[in-house]
Amino acid sequence: MNWEQAYRELLKQYNQVKTEYERAVQRIQELESQPRNGASAAAAAKAEVVAADVASPANYEATLKRLVRQIGAILQAEKVVFMLHDPEEGELRAYPPAYGLTEDEIRLLRVRATQGVSGEVFREGKPIIIHDAITDPRTSKEHVAMLHIRNLVCVPLILEKRDEENRVIDRQTIGVLHAFNKQRGGHFIDEDVRLLERMARNAAAVIAGMRLYQAILEEKEELVHTIESLRAGLLLVHHNGRINQMNAAARRVFGLGPDVLGKNYTEILNNDTIRAMIRAALEEEREGELVEITVQIDGKEHIYQVQNAIVRGEDQKPMGTVMIFNDITDIRNLERMKSAFVATVSHELRTPLTAIKGFVSTLLMDSEDAFTPEDRREFYSIIDQETDRLTRLINDLLNIARIEAGESLKPVYKHVDFYALSKKVVMIQRQATTKHTIIHEVPEDLPKIIADEDKVDQILTNLLSNAIKYSPNGGEIRVKAWEEDADHIVFYVSDQGMGIPKEHLTKVFEKFHRVDNTDTRKQYGTGLGLYLVKHLVEAIHGGQIWVESEVGVGSTFYVRLPKVPPAVKEGKEQVEK
Ligand code: ADP
Repeated sequence: MNWEQAYRELLKQYNQVKTEYERAVQRIQELESQPRNGASAAAAAKAEVVAADVASPANYEATLKRLVRQIGAILQAEKVVFMLHDPEEGELRAYPPAYGLTEDEIRLLRVRATQGVSGEVFREGKPIIIHDAITDPRTSKEHVAMLHIRNLVCVPLILEKRDEENRVIDRQTIGVLHAFNKQRGGHFIDEDVRLLERMARNAAAVIAGMRLYQAILEEKEELVHTIESLRAGLLLVHHNGRINQMNAAARRVFGLGPDVLGKNYTEILNNDTIRAMIRAALEEEREGELVEITVQIDGKEHIYQVQNAIVRGEDQKPMGTVMIFNDITDIRNLERMKSAFVATVSHELRTPLTAIKGFVSTLLMDSEDAFTPEDRREFYSIIDQETDRLTRLINDLLNIARIEAGESLKPVYKHVDFYALSKKVVMIQRQATTKHTIIHEVPEDLPKIIADEDKVDQILTNLLSNAIKYSPNGGEIRVKAWEEDADHIVFYVSDQGMGIPKEHLTKVFEKFHRVDNTDTRKQYGTGLGLYLVKHLVEAIHGGQIWVESEVGVGSTFYVRLPKVPPAVKEGKEQVEK
């Protein structure tokens, strides 16, 4: 996984920097312990060295500060300063900490990387001694005046990369190191150069360490930020049981605030399964387990799939365990809905088939003509209705399959007289019920629209058959339409049935969604009808559909259709004659 690699890489880099830094500190100490003519100065310098064991920006800076002071003492120079190369600006620029220079002087000390003594040392990688800075043509007179430089020695700051056997595998010049003005009017000599070169190597290592450290800090910050905003929950528990990392998504699982880092997992994680998993990981190095937990978040049930892994250091020793929490509530719900769907579809198919088969068999067996013509008519009409129901269901299923496959249902646009169409649909639906009064309230002069006639038929039929189905005690059903504005018509289908609870008002248009209660359970259905209707209204006609409803009072489904669908307006589809 990406973040896991990143974390390991970060740890590796951090350890590298630490080793490099410690090596540099050690070399400084060794250097100081070598006797030199200024023995007392060296002793004084040595007294200041405090071995630092943790790499941090403050420690790096302190180490460099000691280093410049020690160089001043050992070389008996009045001023010591680093100038580092800035590749973007093409400059060599002085950086703190320096010895014997004010902050302003440090800020003002900068030259082109190609100019002067510093430029030459940087380019050539060779040290230079200047005995008389005022007359020597190579010095910058401006800097000589600013820093009152009499004489100087300048060496390159070379960063050496070494392999495991301490062989130099790469060299890079990152700047120069200056010592100005030998004390007591003296002159710098070749031995000073050699000494300064050795100090410069250590300084380069410390500076490189500091830069790397800063880069790692930035990288770490970025990583922490990324982890924090992951959708999946992430929890990192250190080998000692303390929380090292826990992002917002993971804190949500346990209902925790941001103040969790450094706390023991047994104190704050209230889930036994997870605690057992962490314990097994820390104590027995068990990993790769996959468990599912169910938690309540804001009063809602969430299912999480949790997996863990052991985090190992470079030496393969376990450093802790990491866990990922994936919210699979939606997937589980969909799975549940799908199996419920298969059950209902099988049922929906079997019910009309059983009826058809029953009546056909009865008619076939009636060799004596025991049934009256009226009976027979009724049987035929039931067979007819049930066949229609089967056809509708199969059409719905085929259409859904097409939408799912990404094929939009091919529209056939014509001039449609909604008045005539709705009148026909209402008449057909009246046949299907004796309990309901279906009122057709569409003005005869309603303007014609451009639409797919079969699909509008399907929309209206679906809404009307739902209105009948979900008002089992009968009542009034109304189909009303009007011209809303110059570009739209609106129609609705209202009933006085069981109504829809508020929390389901938008969900009823989702695939497989059925309101589940004792009333609705008595009505067969697949939860596909309104999903399909919404698709037909929106995708085919560029319209809108919504519902207003009150439980126990009734429901009204509204549809707004543009008089000209967008596809026609934009010239993508033709209107058939
Ligand atoms: P189906 O009727 O096959 O279940 P639909 O997609 O047509 O599927 O409807 C989804 C759900 O919306 C229904 O199960 C029902 O709970 C609710 N519903 C639809 N129309 C009405 C209505 N007129 N009155 C009350 N509830 C309705």
